[in-house]
Amino acid sequence: MKIVIVGGVAGGASCAARLRRIDEEATIVLFERGQHISFANCGLPYYIGNVIREQGNLLVQTPEGMSTRFAIDVRTESEVTAIDRAAKTVTVKNHATGDIYTESYDKLVLSPGASPIRPANLDAPNIFTLRNIPDTLAITSYADRIEAKRAVVVGGGFIGIEMAENLTERGIQVTLLELAPQIMPPLDVEMASYLHKQLRSHGVDLRLSTGLASVSDDGKVVTLTDGTTVETDLTVLGIGVRPETYLAQDAGLALGTTGGIRVNEQLQTSDPDIYAVGDAIEVTDYITRRPALIPLAGPANKQGRIAANNIAGRPEVYKGTQGSSVLKVFDMTAASTGASEKSLKRAGIAYERSYTHSLSHAGYYGGATLISLKLIYAPHTGKLLGAQAIGKSGVEKRIDVLATAIRAGMSVFDLEELELTYAPPYSSAKDPVNMGGYVASNLIKGDCAAIHWDEIDTDDSGYLVDVRTPYEYNRGTIGDAVNIPVDELRDRLAELPTDKPIHIICQVGLRGYIAYRILAAHGFTGMKNLSGGYYLYNTVMNGK
Ligand code: FAD
Repeated sequence: MKIVIVGGVAGGASCAARLRRIDEEATIVLFERGQHISFANCGLPYYIGNVIREQGNLLVQTPEGMSTRFAIDVRTESEVTAIDRAAKTVTVKNHATGDIYTESYDKLVLSPGASPIRPANLDAPNIFTLRNIPDTLAITSYADRIEAKRAVVVGGGFIGIEMAENLTERGIQVTLLELAPQIMPPLDVEMASYLHKQLRSHGVDLRLSTGLASVSDDGKVVTLTDGTTVETDLTVLGIGVRPETYLAQDAGLALGTTGGIRVNEQLQTSDPDIYAVGDAIEVTDYITRRPALIPLAGPANKQGRIAANNIAGRPEVYKGTQGSSVLKVFDMTAASTGASEKSLKRAGIAYERSYTHSLSHAGYYGGATLISLKLIYAPHTGKLLGAQAIGKSGVEKRIDVLATAIRAGMSVFDLEELELTYAPPYSSAKDPVNMGGYVASNLIKGDCAAIHWDEIDTDDSGYLVDVRTPYEYNRGTIGDAVNIPVDELRDRLAELPTDKPIHIICQVGLRGYIAYRILAAHGFTGMKNLSGGYYLYNTVMNGK
């Protein structure tokens, strides 16, 4: 069996190594257009920020290392330019020598990735995109040579935000442009608001609902969609990636509705002898079951392995991509898994949501910080559909637990029961994941009812009661809320109307829940507790 692999980084290198581990006899040829295989794409922004100092550390594996350990014929600077499906050959151009030749295959694996979107009119020499090591070195050497002081980053996705942070770490003043009203598309807007605040507090000039309109010929002046201009030494575009499908398209392989290469569950393209994996393929969204492009390293690596298993006669299916992801934003972490409200709305899937703010570990131990957690789940059954979390510590651990829960088909009721590790430096006896489960379960069981941050201003049917302390209340509340601290509530029930539902405000939602239960026990009905409390509401209002 001779297997030819196109693309030598995440999906391709994974597939090649797995194939060799399970088939010592196969001939495996790996073609990579660039000079490097298996490099750390995800580490590139941190090299720019001087967090990763050695260029060599970006190379997870070298062509020589891969050849020696796995007996793989690795050919770098070798671009596969065409596929002849009838003859089962590929045409290869060696960029080092200029040679063009053909190579036969029994099975072909495509893992060509996705390329950064770069509008044709943005061609000034100080406009960059970031995909590989040469792109990285181009940015660092340019910034060093001109002693860059100002930069514009376009696009508030993963790469844009990581670039904004790492250029800031280099001492460069960054303006970050995002055309949407929020950064980080996998998050919903209220969760992204924490990051808006975080970026601004670290000196990033974040402009939301603002894109790049044009750039001067010398690239030094950027005109924004609001008509204002920004002077810049360099501009980095992080406006998304497009699956590299030219090979597949030219070979007549089917593309999906999203423009990615269409594959079946075994990761076979429309030609059963050709597999495709990674950023170039259209996947099925694990939650909505809709076709999607989800360019992440974890899925690419897993798909490479699954394709290898299938080729080697160990049948396996790829069940879909959940989009679990994590992002560092200075000293904050944002992570999410599964569906967002936005994606569920687009798919027409009903959902409920809950918010909690829990300490990352036991408060009495010291040094704990808040984890703001949003759970999204099916009405009635409570089946988990998605989760998003922001905080300074322990965020990714909780999202990883929730990502696992989603794979296991768990509900918010199951989260109540999860027995997770606890000692004071690490968590609380009721972990933030348990707390999320309690709050969501209470809502489904009717032990509490919620009003959300985006409803409380528009829903004027309720009588607003702020149950925090007078000190907290005087620092800011919502609308014309009256202040009745929760500890005084039982003695001041007579002050409350009985002809109107009461909408309860507290700081994070916990005292509001207690107030809800007190009111319920005294015969009040129709109350709603502000989910996520004033803390979430105020973050959204300040994060626009
Ligand atoms: P790639 O890893 O891009 O590899 C494709 C390779 O194929 C390329 O090297 C290309 O040169 C080669 N190629 C293309 N066409 C041909 C051809 N015709 N012939 C020969 N070779 C060809 N994901 C995360 O999950 N977490 C992160 O933190 C993260 N950070 C990232 C940061 C940056 C700056 C970038 C660029 C990406 C990041 N990603 C991250 C995304 C992740 O790197 C990709 O999802 C993953 O690398 C996709 O793997 P792939 O094999 O599909 O494509």
